[in-house]
Amino acid sequence: MHLARFPRYQLGHFPTPLERLDRLTEDLGGPEIWIKRDDCTGLASGGNKTRKLEFLLADAVAEGADTLVTQGATQSNHVRQTAAAACRAGLACHALLERRVTNQGADYEAAGNVLLDAMMDCAFDFRPAGLDMNAEGQALAEDLRAQGRKPYFIPGGGSNPVGALGYAACAEELVYQADARGLKIDALVHATGSAGTQAGLLAGLYAMNAPIPVTGISVRAPRDRQIANVHALAAQTAELLGVRGELPRDMVDAHDGQVGPGYGQPTDEMVDAMLLLSRLEGILLDPVYSGKGFAGLVAMIRQGRFRKGQRVVFLHTGGSAALFAYGHLFNNQKAA
Ligand SMILES: *Cc1c(COP(=O)(O)O)cnc(C)c1O
Repeated sequence: MHLARFPRYQLGHFPTPLERLDRLTEDLGGPEIWIKRDDCTGLASGGNKTRKLEFLLADAVAEGADTLVTQGATQSNHVRQTAAAACRAGLACHALLERRVTNQGADYEAAGNVLLDAMMDCAFDFRPAGLDMNAEGQALAEDLRAQGRKPYFIPGGGSNPVGALGYAACAEELVYQADARGLKIDALVHATGSAGTQAGLLAGLYAMNAPIPVTGISVRAPRDRQIANVHALAAQTAELLGVRGELPRDMVDAHDGQVGPGYGQPTDEMVDAMLLLSRLEGILLDPVYSGKGFAGLVAMIRQGRFRKGQRVVFLHTGGSAALFAYGHLFNNQKAA
């Protein structure tokens, strides 16, 4: 793997820290728990889309684009980071926001990521739930082209092989950090949605021959569909990286026990897991992605999936800007 073969636009602060969570480890009484802080990528409050956007934005600039077009749910962290990336490169940004969640109160369409999108001069239009949002986004890009603009379309979550290169880079960064400290990683766990994060990690680990098991905690799709989505994109990403051989399907592991009533719908386990981490370690998660991902890790530990002495890494993918759209979940919480 030689990532410098691909154009890259520097947007983030890398490497992100890899830290041991002593108080959480003690509290849960199981494996040693570490955290990879991709919530600290630095781009307009950070998160996992920054790594993908370094490769996507470079591709857009190479094509001579003047406008980034993308799509996401109303409280999309991806749209917020794309808007920031566009600002950095002096491009316009136009996003479509899907009303996938409509029962979370008045702040949901005005606060959190939506507020930040507006601050970064991102034009956005809403769409009802259930449309093919990537098709909608491509249609918008074609309209803009007809008006003389030069749009570059980024699919939801930045999840295509070019974007997933960002997580192949993260796999490389994580393995170097762990090796430098003599840290053998027994498992890597994170939230998975549009699949690019897990696909890029798997492609990178496969390219490096680094056998670290990765478990994605689904925030939306049932397990089988999520595994198929991740595998398809991981195989395409490995091919783009020039890796020989077919990425094995049994590298892909996903759980769907944390989805609850659906995408962006709170669960008690997510709220408990978020408060556990904030109160023991002062680290903030989000209700849609990293909170459910972390709840998945806590459930695995409580089910005894890991031995004492094993080391598990939670990849913190960010998202805390969305907290301000879900204030009703937490503003009645008092210290125990
Ligand atoms: C987008 C996102 C994810 C999921 O990453 P995918 O690459 O879409 O699977 C996880 N956590 C946060 C905070 C996100 O914004």
